[in-house]
Amino acid sequence: MAFDYDKYLRPGKLPHIWCPGCGHGIILKGLLRAIDACGLDKDNTAIVSGIGCASRLPGYVDFNTLHTAHGRAAAFATGIKMAKPEMNVLVVGGDGDGVAIGGNHFIHACRRNIDMTYILCNNFIYGMTGGQFSPCTPTGDRASTTPYGNPDPVFDIGKLAIGAGASFVARTTSFHATQIDKLIAEGIRHKGMAVIEVLDDCPTTYGRRNKFRSVVDMMKRFKELAVPVAKAASMSKEELEGKIVTGILHQEQRPEYCEQYAEVVKRAQKS
Ligand code: SF4
Ligand code: MG
Repeated sequence: MAFDYDKYLRPGKLPHIWCPGCGHGIILKGLLRAIDACGLDKDNTAIVSGIGCASRLPGYVDFNTLHTAHGRAAAFATGIKMAKPEMNVLVVGGDGDGVAIGGNHFIHACRRNIDMTYILCNNFIYGMTGGQFSPCTPTGDRASTTPYGNPDPVFDIGKLAIGAGASFVARTTSFHATQIDKLIAEGIRHKGMAVIEVLDDCPTTYGRRNKFRSVVDMMKRFKELAVPVAKAASMSKEELEGKIVTGILHQEQRPEYCEQYAEVVKRAQKS
């Protein structure tokens, strides 16, 4: 039976505004399938975003949604979770929003291991504002602000999240559509900060500047470069150069922030 997306979409909000070929629609579908697989109650689920093309996603879905300020999604999501720890809290946003402007909020949400699922749509660029380079634009690639090639080294979001303390970190691409919902579902079920990086395409501001002839070419490079994490374990650093390691990169159980905070409140009430 076909999946009933309408059950989760906000009536009257489609068609979406994303450009033809944009990867965000694939991520939206994966997110809804994951939410359905986990059986989340709509009234008990909040989806939070900052600003950017990916951050338009909550506007299309029928949950409690919060479209906030640029880079501040993790901070608002932390507030919701602290006030209502029983809620399922998800964040959706892009690379510029999440790890540039919102980098500080992102690393501290990871450090606290607060129980939320952060879906980071990494399309290597600030799409909405015209294609400026982000900390995820590959070195040497072109953006509107690096027309002769980006001189900066690139953030590895997986390593950043693990280093900051996230207890579940995964990566996939918009080519691997069925893996998107599986990893988001795993992230939702995980207790603690779950980061799922989805590499996706912005044909409008990144693809055309970087000589991709079509979205199909952009998707093909995801297919060709992807290496499942189990296979990557037996490959050398040189062999992994330029590859995209996909799957669950890190998972551990460690104390969750709201539970720790509740203990502090109990101690304070007794004193
Ligand atoms: Fe998607 Fe890029 Fe268009 Fe934004 S500008 S909707 S990221 S293709
Ligand atoms: Mg982006």
